[in-house]
Amino acid sequence: MRYYSLNKQSPLADFKEATIKGQAPDKGLYFPERIPAIEPSFFKNIGNIADDDIAFRVIRPYTEGSVTDDELHRIVTETINFPIPLVQVTDTIHSLELYHGPTLAFKDIGARFMSRCLGLFSKERSEKVIVLVATSGDTGGAVANGFYGVEGVEVVILYPSGKVSPVQEKQLTTLGKNIHALEIEGSFDDCQKLVKQAFADSALTKKLFLTSANSINVARWLPQQFYYFFAYKQWKQKEQAPVICVPSGNFGNICAGMLAHISGLPVSHFIAACNANDVVPGFLQSQTYLPKKAVATISNAMDVGDPSNFVRILELFDHEFIKLKSTLDSYSISDADTKVTIRNVYQSFNYLLDPHGAVGYCALEKYLRQHPGLHGIFLETAHPVKFYDVVEPVIGSKIPVPESIKDILLKPMKRSKMGNRYEEIYNYLMGI
Ligand SMILES: *Cc1c(COP(=O)(O)O)cnc(C)c1O
Repeated sequence: MRYYSLNKQSPLADFKEATIKGQAPDKGLYFPERIPAIEPSFFKNIGNIADDDIAFRVIRPYTEGSVTDDELHRIVTETINFPIPLVQVTDTIHSLELYHGPTLAFKDIGARFMSRCLGLFSKERSEKVIVLVATSGDTGGAVANGFYGVEGVEVVILYPSGKVSPVQEKQLTTLGKNIHALEIEGSFDDCQKLVKQAFADSALTKKLFLTSANSINVARWLPQQFYYFFAYKQWKQKEQAPVICVPSGNFGNICAGMLAHISGLPVSHFIAACNANDVVPGFLQSQTYLPKKAVATISNAMDVGDPSNFVRILELFDHEFIKLKSTLDSYSISDADTKVTIRNVYQSFNYLLDPHGAVGYCALEKYLRQHPGLHGIFLETAHPVKFYDVVEPVIGSKIPVPESIKDILLKPMKRSKMGNRYEEIYNYLMGI
């Protein structure tokens, strides 16, 4: 498979080059030259296919030429070594729980896949690869965990002081080894600005091999297709394809689902569930795309004012608004409604949502109310304990801490505190 830049000013790249570069030289996102079609018999028989074989079948056309079949089998098996259950919540609504991985959020899947690919590619190079990433919380933890101990790769994570949740901060700072956490005196936007400045600093990039691990990287974006197939495998009513609702921020996750659908995965309709950051719901109403400054909400991983991956969705639909509208609806859900949803679903169905999943549930419920007879799945993208400071006061009780993170909460944090000046970052990177 080869990938072109959506800005159309860079040469084609194979999977390896697209992964290593992250972004094309013309600053465009990489996009696959063709979308593979999966044969209908695969879906008929999906109940009998093991998860790692499904993942292998789905991703193989995308990595062909860059990863051998043996390596790919190993990578997908290691990527999905935790359960991804589809859980029934009401008569018409199911939850796809994507939070059983090591950092309790769906980003584990993309980050684990990408880290293993980059680990493989960096073996062939003599210089060390430095993965540089800014995080508002979940990305950093998933990337740190995914790359922990990977030879030849150092990971530097910038996070805003005091603005990530306590669990998230532990996940960023307790690993050590090749994972470096920098606590920045500033906001997430400041962190992102510093990262961008480093990538644009040719004096630095001449000396160091820098790459990014955010969701625009094809090696993080494409494996997110896996769990849409796993959801369908567990979907009982195969005579009617599910509506799928995805809590969305940068729109990488839902874009992977739509890609899977174009490859043949049966889905009745997609819903992009947004918080107060309503650029895409606005676009679907007015056909005008108006990026905004992000506003802070209780579903903070979705606080994005100009979603990077939306341009990939437009490309999937040949930039034809009517075609896109027939497949996608989008709702903006307020913090107040998110809290009401967490409380009601907990009281009525004994199911605990995190704020991101609650945005998804609420949007799906709205759509199903307008389209009686349909059934749907929302993606539960994080474990509620990651956001206990929001969820516990809403339900009025404590959330039990999962065994898997009890250890981490006891470990000491290691991080370097820094001001908001580029020189400090520069010096740190040069010193690795
Ligand atoms: C990152 C994140 C999202 C948003 O995913 P996108 O791919 O950026 O749309 C939603 N929920 C949680 C918990 C996340 O960490």
